[in-house]
Amino acid sequence: MGSTIPYFETFSQSTQYKARKLLLLQKVYKRTEGEYVVMPILGYNTTEYTVKEIMGKFMCTCQKGRGRGHCSHMLAVYLFIEKTEGIKERQLQFL
Ligand SMILES: [Zn+2]
Repeated sequence: MGSTIPYFETFSQSTQYKARKLLLLQKVYKRTEGEYVVMPILGYNTTEYTVKEIMGKFMCTCQKGRGRGHCSHMLAVYLFIEKTEGIKERQLQFL
């Protein structure tokens, strides 16, 4: 990489907004090591996506994430990891 630009700044403003919304609504959770699930936002979409983190790189099962796109799910997972790092025993509650 070698870049000093914060990872989230490589995402568009609208994608950053969506990612923060996903996080705020607690739509992100860890399934297993290196694998995360992003739940759909009610009224916005209906699909659950899986994001995999491999060596600091993110891959998502959504259409945008399968290409070279930086999707909101990847960023949401990135922010989620940042937020929960060091609090591994924390249990998130979902309705
Ligand atoms: Zn995605």
